[in-house]
Amino acid sequence: MEWETVIGLEIHAQLATKSKIFSGASTAYGAPPNTQACAVDLGLPGVLPVLNKDAVRMAVKLGLATGAKIAPRSVFARKNYFYPDLPKGYQISQYELPVVEHGHMDIELEDGSSKTIGITRAHLEEDAGKSLHEDFHGLTGVDLNRAGTPLLEVVSEPDLRSAKEAVAYMKKLHSLVRYLEICDGNMQEGSFRCDANVSVRPKGSDKLGTRCEIKNLNSFRFVERAINYEIERQIDLIEGGGKVVQETRLYDADKDETRSMRSKEEAMDYRYFPDPDLLPLEIEQAFISEVQRTLPELPDEKKERFAYEYGLSPYEAAVLTGSRELADYYEAVIQTANGEAKLAANWVLGELSGAINKSGLDITQSPVSPALLGGMLNRITDNTISGKIAKTVFEAMWNGEGDADAVIDKRGLKQVTDSGAIEKVIDDVMAANPGQLADYRAGKDKLFGFFVGQVMKLSQGKANPAQVNALLKKKLNG
Ligand code: ADP
Ligand code: MG
Repeated sequence: MEWETVIGLEIHAQLATKSKIFSGASTAYGAPPNTQACAVDLGLPGVLPVLNKDAVRMAVKLGLATGAKIAPRSVFARKNYFYPDLPKGYQISQYELPVVEHGHMDIELEDGSSKTIGITRAHLEEDAGKSLHEDFHGLTGVDLNRAGTPLLEVVSEPDLRSAKEAVAYMKKLHSLVRYLEICDGNMQEGSFRCDANVSVRPKGSDKLGTRCEIKNLNSFRFVERAINYEIERQIDLIEGGGKVVQETRLYDADKDETRSMRSKEEAMDYRYFPDPDLLPLEIEQAFISEVQRTLPELPDEKKERFAYEYGLSPYEAAVLTGSRELADYYEAVIQTANGEAKLAANWVLGELSGAINKSGLDITQSPVSPALLGGMLNRITDNTISGKIAKTVFEAMWNGEGDADAVIDKRGLKQVTDSGAIEKVIDDVMAANPGQLADYRAGKDKLFGFFVGQVMKLSQGKANPAQVNALLKKKLNG
């Protein structure tokens, strides 16, 4: 039997507002426990929530960027449950009438094609506090700094068909919220996290299987692993004659497995009802138009422009526009490098990205600035150095040895373009390798590469490669 996987994601993005969604307390991360929770966040009697307009603005931004409908009227509801990090005894969320509905987003698949994923809804809600189980021996601490932080929960249609697709979708949304500057996307700090709903069904069936929901995944790697584990678990279970039961599961990264947290029978009844302390949220067209005007160039638009304007492949354009910072970096390099877009793309995607990944730095922290890299590319295009020597120059710039000109000067890396000097090196190489020379002249063409290598080696990589090729051809053929 062949199985098909069905996945829908619920992604929580903390909105980058200065203050909380219903109070004036700061949302800054990392303050000492309970220093940023005011009377509203603590749920003290007699206080009233006041909606933060910036949170609404950010939700509308995401709605517009995903082609969604912005509800002219949406309603905040109380989701009732008891937990120590929820002092009011309920979370303010949106239930039947969310602010954003019926959006979509395209994801790129590994084979180069793309696929449209439906966004069912996105709603505003408040985050809960945090229970700290490890900091106190035998006790649990409660930190309410996070209580009341605005969240946008983005719910996808069950359109995803593999763990890879789920990760591609999550990455795309992650990139989008950062382009829109509505979420810092910091996954270690929990600013962007995901619940994954997973089910399997016989291939060809159009009925959905019973799903399990894996809670609180906070890295792309964990999302992929948890989903793949869950797919196998469900298939093994069904093929062994069992049945998947609808339940909430937790992913244990150390053991790389998911474990049951609570089944549907134990699921809470949240007794949702409209919050009587908050008026319905009414959004006028004028507000939507105002937000529309603030939208930046979106990732997909930028990707298309890069491909068209800079002559890049779809793949190159996609990677370079993967984050706004990388795209900005790339365009700044082109500025310095006199429009050498293709060369700039090769270096940004190759050497620079390699060094960034290896160092664990962020592109904005790169010791090689766009101006430094662009300046070095100019030395390639004006034939001062070869592409190969440029790697040495790049490494030196990365290590803080100054700009390309300084490095070339200090290390004597200037390319040799004097044909007399190159011919002299070729003569030496030919004299030192009479056997190979005879073989080459007897028809062993492949030895050409050997001679190129020897000449480059003897010139310490400094001979101009194009000239070496041309002169060698002439001389070897007698
Ligand atoms: P709830 O609010 O109870 O979590 P929803 O119906 O709103 O449930 O669905 C939440 C998420 O689960 C959505 O992303 C949806 O696409 C996904 N989903 C629903 N049914 C399935 C299923 N059978 N298999 C996989 N995902 C599903
Ligand atoms: Mg859910």
